[in-house]
Amino acid sequence: MSKEKILKNDKDYVWHPLTQHKTATEPLAISHASGNYLYDFDGNKYFDGISSWYTCSYGHTNPKLTTALKNQVDQLHHVVFAGMTHEPAAMLSEKLIDILPENQQKLFFSENGSTSVEIALKMAFQYHFNRDEKRNVVVALDNGFHGDTFGAMSASSLSVYNGPFEDFFIDVIRIPAPTEENLEQVLDHVASIVKEYDVSSFIYEPLVQGAAAMQLNNAESLCEVINKFQQLGVIAIADEVMTGFGKTGTNFASDQIGAKPDIICLSKALTGGIMPMAITSCTQKIFDAFYDDKLAKGLFHGHTYSGNPLGCAVASAAIDLLTSLDIQQRIQEISNRNKNFANQIENHHKVADVRTIGVILAIDLAIEVERYGNKRNEIFQWFWQRGLFLRPLGKTVYIVPPFTSTKEEMNQVYKTILDFLSNFN
Ligand SMILES: *Cc1c(COP(=O)(O)O)cnc(C)c1O
Repeated sequence: MSKEKILKNDKDYVWHPLTQHKTATEPLAISHASGNYLYDFDGNKYFDGISSWYTCSYGHTNPKLTTALKNQVDQLHHVVFAGMTHEPAAMLSEKLIDILPENQQKLFFSENGSTSVEIALKMAFQYHFNRDEKRNVVVALDNGFHGDTFGAMSASSLSVYNGPFEDFFIDVIRIPAPTEENLEQVLDHVASIVKEYDVSSFIYEPLVQGAAAMQLNNAESLCEVINKFQQLGVIAIADEVMTGFGKTGTNFASDQIGAKPDIICLSKALTGGIMPMAITSCTQKIFDAFYDDKLAKGLFHGHTYSGNPLGCAVASAAIDLLTSLDIQQRIQEISNRNKNFANQIENHHKVADVRTIGVILAIDLAIEVERYGNKRNEIFQWFWQRGLFLRPLGKTVYIVPPFTSTKEEMNQVYKTILDFLSNFN
């Protein structure tokens, strides 16, 4: 199909996510992707600076992942996952449990980050319900983002245009992200919330609040807050949909926090960007609260494509890649390069703040930019025209490059950002 025909069909039939079609510019037609690059129909290539929304951490069309998919394609595409099981799920489960925080024991399969959160919230509500306690309130962090379905949207304060839906939200109380300075107040606040309300769960993005423009949180303070909640019988839910699978320098951000969550939400890089898949993991304690002779105590939640064999097969191969010496070294190299670059630009007059953790590097520009305004689009265009795909969030320019990015590619990214700082007004 020609580029023109693609764009015509798109205009005629497609309703894009997060888009006001009246004011949006024409979408960019991508012809294919390979390694760390996207290619358009005019032969231009663009470095994928955000791993296509943090999914393709091992580069596009990675041969190991493609092979895993091809091998599975001739065996089994899909089968009902209620009452049946299969090798790809069994294989993936063992591999994932092996790298998850030690207290995680059971895996619940679904298809996207929002559903993994939805399931986590329902697990927590029903955990208490099954123990004859009705607890209806969720506590979440200010500026959190957990997805776009109702439960996830309720827990998010950053789903931007919630107006039409707010009346249907579940009850959520927000607390500030704990810092060294506010920790005592936040702990007091937590105690009084739990005293006053029937709190079921506390949901948080560990270490990095992605949609809050890569806000970094203090691990020790967050640890104390999680501990406090758990001591008070509240279920701790770590939303690792973005942070999971190596991006913060460890397999999971929770690895860097002393307190371990009861439930973990995973998606995005789980399959390395090949198949839509998500997993909600939990501890034996959570699972046991559902294990009963009474049918109604089970978790009656399911999605048609739960445990899809193709997804499981690529996710297994993705975990093999993640845990390989090669990828582990590359993650450390990119982390070190990011740190050096952050040091290099921290006093630049156009830089208000620069922060980095693992492969994530975020720069707040010392200019005013609306979150989805024109200036933000100009910044996007500026980078795009220079072969770098980024999605700035307001005045924050950030990268989450694939782990397969080479030294030369990273240097080119840094050089482009430096050019931007010198020349963009
Ligand atoms: C992307 C994201 C989600 C939602 O995942 P979807 O697959 O887009 O539904 C939830 N939580 C976090 C932290 C995310 O980054």
